[in-house]
Amino acid sequence: MPDKRALFLDRDGTINVDKHYVYRPQDFEWIPGIVELCRAAQSAGYLIIIITNQSGIERGYYTEQDYAAFMQFLSGQFEAHGIRIAGSLHCPLLHDEINRKPAPGLFLQAADRWGINMAASLSLGDKERDVQAGIHAGVGRNYLLSDSAEESAADAVVKSPSELIPLL
Ligand SMILES: [Mg+2]
Repeated sequence: MPDKRALFLDRDGTINVDKHYVYRPQDFEWIPGIVELCRAAQSAGYLIIIITNQSGIERGYYTEQDYAAFMQFLSGQFEAHGIRIAGSLHCPLLHDEINRKPAPGLFLQAADRWGINMAASLSLGDKERDVQAGIHAGVGRNYLLSDSAEESAADAVVKSPSELIPLL
């Protein structure tokens, strides 16, 4: 019986400011409130898992190696705040209908790999396709990070990741 809870995070626009296909450390900038959320989630026993479409790889903007190097850098940034990222999954392909969000494939792989109780887990992303992928994967609560009060299938639209802290 999968018993671990996860906080599933999108990457660009959710963890780091979306500067259009980020892969260089010098373009890294925290989204305000994400460190606080991750720290609280870790204390509450959640695994933190990053689920990110990375079509910039197939588009030829950067390589798998660039992506991997940036993720290693990103892990280091989290570690500097005492936060451990359990892992990350990405989909480099534009036309992967199983894994590319809004499809749930990456979430389902993560559930298998880490033994996640999806119904007890949360997701946060800055695009409706993040919310849809979480819903399709059976994630219990799915939140959209957005400044505008847009229409969303999300359980709530939040302006800062830190708004999730009381909901953990
Ligand atoms: Mg995003």
